[in-house]
Amino acid sequence: MVPDADYRVGLGYDIHRLAAGRRLILGGIEIPFELGLLGHSDGDSLSHAITDALLGAAGLGDIGTHFSDRDPRWKDADSLGFLNAACAMLAEGGWSIVNIDVTIHAERPKMKPHVAAMKDALSGAAGIDPSRINIKAKTAEGLDAVGRGEAIAAQAVVLITR
Ligand code: MG
Repeated sequence: MVPDADYRVGLGYDIHRLAAGRRLILGGIEIPFELGLLGHSDGDSLSHAITDALLGAAGLGDIGTHFSDRDPRWKDADSLGFLNAACAMLAEGGWSIVNIDVTIHAERPKMKPHVAAMKDALSGAAGIDPSRINIKAKTAEGLDAVGRGEAIAAQAVVLITR
């Protein structure tokens, strides 16, 4: 740690409903599954949680402020674009990302086989080394909306510095 560097943490959470007739996009990649996440954009709850955490850390509000789900520009948008744009806002303020840690909450499908590809996609969009991103995944043990397989949620915590 640099003694007089400025450090900030940010927290993000998001959940989207699973629905038929949608591609499952999570962490910026497409995962083969019979259901996909419903949303104005691609519904990528993981990318949204990370974007919110980054904006929060830099004191820049939240994802809804910058990329409203009522704005036709973001209809079916690739959420990696939100992440990339948030990172550009942070860079403008002189911030760089120390690390990103996330937990995906999903009953199905299995996330483990997709974690490496997600890391590549997310770190590419954020312009950081993949080693600065950690992705964990867990089920909800059959409890709540995630546990019933009705939704996929994600939590993210980030540390930024300048
Ligand atoms: Mg969202």
